[in-house]
Amino acid sequence: MPYLGCHLSASKGDLAMVRTAQSIGADTFAFFTRNPRGSKAKPQDLVDSAKAMSLMGQLGFGKLVAHGAYTMNLCTADPDARDFAASVLAEDLQRMAALPEQYYNFHPGSHVGQGAEAGIEQIVGALRRALEPAYPVTVLLETMAGKGSEVGGSFQELKDIIDGVGSDSVGVCLDTCHVYDAGYDIVNDLDGVLAEFDRIIGLDRLKALHLNDSKNPFASHKDRHECIGQGSLGLETFRRIVTHPLLADKPMILETPNELPGYAEELRLLRDMIMNER
Ligand code: FE
Ligand code: FE
Ligand code: ZN
Repeated sequence: MPYLGCHLSASKGDLAMVRTAQSIGADTFAFFTRNPRGSKAKPQDLVDSAKAMSLMGQLGFGKLVAHGAYTMNLCTADPDARDFAASVLAEDLQRMAALPEQYYNFHPGSHVGQGAEAGIEQIVGALRRALEPAYPVTVLLETMAGKGSEVGGSFQELKDIIDGVGSDSVGVCLDTCHVYDAGYDIVNDLDGVLAEFDRIIGLDRLKALHLNDSKNPFASHKDRHECIGQGSLGLETFRRIVTHPLLADKPMILETPNELPGYAEELRLLRDMIMNER
């Protein structure tokens, strides 16, 4: 059975997020490691993080999936801005030591006209520097919609990053809205897409999913999230995903346009799908 959760506000700390997750029927969650617009991270509270980890253990939570800031572009064209993004990544990974063995997901970046190959090289460089010395965190490259000059809109680009870094601590987080927008038809051929993922990247690298419906049609390269069942993916696609044997035991995170009550409702819907299948 997969672990199900949603994106939560980190403003009251780690323990508060675990309690909130529990209160809405989640057994994993995601949060931004820093303000998505600004770049400054708030001071760490190691006691709070330790309490959160221990409560997660008691409650049988799956791994949480922290999310790096959208503004962190590891392959932006300006060298100073790129160095700054790399230092943000390194600091984020250091801070993840307070939440040992959990996941840190981020958008690979946008190459802004430099070309995907150059972008991939810069992302690889930033990861190699940030991952050494080894912190107890697995970084997850998010599958992207291929909007503008986004890197990571194809499985091959993610594979190239993984090979370039050459570490077991790099995995992938598959975002359902993004892959569909990118042109992977998980509506009509989920098994085919998973087989392609396995062939190119290897399913052992697939560590987590983002569950989002899409406001746009197949291969639109747009990236606009919709609530579960209300977009072009549809309920049946999500039923297949949450009950898929190859995806069992993975954390699945909702990033749908919802507040907490809406998330609680979607979590119930997904859990019902799982229960009805058994
Ligand atoms: Fe994301
Ligand atoms: Fe996502
Ligand atoms: Zn998105």
